[in-house]
Amino acid sequence: MSDNETVTHHRVCHLCEAMCGLVIQTEGERVVDIRGDRADPLSRGHICPKAVALQDIHEDPDRLRKPLKRVRSAPGVYHHEAIEWGEAFDLAADALATTIRDHGVDAVGAYFGNPAVHNYGMLTHQRNLFRHIRTRNRFSATSVDQLPHHLVSLWCFGHMLLQPIPDVDRTHYFLMLGANPLASNGSLWTVPDVRRRLKDLRARGGKLVVIDPRRTETAEMASEHHFIKPGTDATFLLAMIHVLFRDGLVDPGAMTSHTDGVDEVGAAVTELTPQWAEERTGIAAADIERIAHEMAAAEAGICYGRMGVSTQAYGALCQWAIQVINVVTGNLDKPGGSLFTAPAMDQVANTSPGGFARFTSRKRGLPEFNYELPAAAMADEIRTPGEGQIKLMVTGAGNPVLSTPNGQALDASITKDIDFYINETTRHADIILPPTSALEHDHYDIAFPIAGFAIPPVTSFPISMGPMAPFMIGRYFRNLESVLPND
Ligand code: SF4
Repeated sequence: MSDNETVTHHRVCHLCEAMCGLVIQTEGERVVDIRGDRADPLSRGHICPKAVALQDIHEDPDRLRKPLKRVRSAPGVYHHEAIEWGEAFDLAADALATTIRDHGVDAVGAYFGNPAVHNYGMLTHQRNLFRHIRTRNRFSATSVDQLPHHLVSLWCFGHMLLQPIPDVDRTHYFLMLGANPLASNGSLWTVPDVRRRLKDLRARGGKLVVIDPRRTETAEMASEHHFIKPGTDATFLLAMIHVLFRDGLVDPGAMTSHTDGVDEVGAAVTELTPQWAEERTGIAAADIERIAHEMAAAEAGICYGRMGVSTQAYGALCQWAIQVINVVTGNLDKPGGSLFTAPAMDQVANTSPGGFARFTSRKRGLPEFNYELPAAAMADEIRTPGEGQIKLMVTGAGNPVLSTPNGQALDASITKDIDFYINETTRHADIILPPTSALEHDHYDIAFPIAGFAIPPVTSFPISMGPMAPFMIGRYFRNLESVLPND
C-alpha cells in the first residue's frame, strides 16, 4: 500500500459514554480526516470536537512515546529520562515485588481513572493484575462520580451493574435532576445526539422537566425548569413519593410480582409533605404535587438523576428515591421508561455483584465498595504511618492530584504510572509507562453498552425497595437534625 493511498477506518470513539461512530481516513501513517459516521445507528453522524482532536493527541510531540525514569540530577532536583521498555518493566516489577516483600501487599496502592473503563485491555488486565495483588488500598474515579448508582443497584436489584437507562426515544415524560446531557452527551446513559432526541420528545407532545440549581444547557431547552436549593434533591424526591402514595397513584404494573417492600416505602414517607419540601427546596408544593401526578399519568415516564444528585451528602438516598419513583409509577423496565439493557457482552453475568463495607480505610474508617476505598481516603492512606501504609502507588489513566479530594496531599510516594503525558500526578512518578494513542490500537467498549440502548429484557430478578426505606430515610433525618438544629 502506498503512502498516498487513502484508507477508510470505521470505529467507535472511546472518549465518553456516547460511543459515537467515527469514520477516519488515513494516508500511510497520516490521519487526514475524522468525521461522524452517518451509518452508525446510535450516533447517526453526531460527534463532538473531542473526537476531531484525537488527531491532535495522536500527533502531539509532547505525547510520551517511550517509558520515562525519574532521575535525581542534584539534591532535591529531579528530571525524567527516556528508557527502553525492558528496563522499565524490570524496574516496575522489582519495585512491586520489593514493596510487597518488605511491607506487605497493602503497601501497594492503585488508582485508575475513568478512561480505564473505556479500554478493554486496561479493564481486563488491571483486574487480573490485582487479582494477584490483593491490596485493600485500591481506588478509582467511581467514588467521585457514580458510586451511589452502584450502591442502589446492588441493594435494590442485586447487582451493582444493573443500571436502568432512560428510553428517551419512546418516552412521553422525562423528569431529570442534576444532569446536563447536552454538555455530557449522557452519563450512565449512552445518548449521542441528545439535543435532537430531546427535541423529538417535545415535538411528539412529550415533556422534559429539569430540576437543577443551575440554568444548564439542558434546562434551557426543557418544557419547564425548576431551580432547587443545592443539596435538597432528596427532599424533593421524597415529597414526590409521598404524593404518589397519598393520592393513590402507586401502581408498579409489570413489576408488581417482582417487587417487595412497597408498603414500607409508603409508611416511611407519610410525614414528608410537599409543604415540608417547599420550605427546604424552594420549589412550590403545588409544583411538586403536579409533577408527581404528571409522572404517574404519563403513558411512559422516566425519572433520572446523575452527577448533581450523586456527588452530594445524600447521593445514595437520591438514587434510591429515583428508582422508587420509577418502580411505583410502573415505569421500570417498560418501553419509554427506565430500561435494563441486554448488551452483547453481559457483564452482569460475568462479574460479581459487588459488596459494601466489608472493610474500612485505616485512618478514617470509610467503607469499601466492590473492594475499592473512596478516593477521598487516598492521601491519608499514603501519609499515615503504620501497618498497611501505602509505600508504592500505581496509577493508570487518571490524574488524581488534580481530580480527587485532597489532591495536593497526594504529592508523595507515587512510584509507577501509566499515562501518555506528564501531568500533575505523573510528574512525581519514578516510572511512567506510556500507552499507545487511541488511533494506534483497536477498540471495543465492553463497559458502556451496559448503560446504552438495547432491547429490554423481561425482568427476572427480584426488586427490593422497602428494606432500605427506614435505614436511608432515617439516616437522612438524623443528619438533618444534626446540621439543622433549629429546623
Ligand atoms: S460525544 Fe463522546 S463519544 Fe461522541 S465524539 Fe464526543 S467524546 Fe466521542
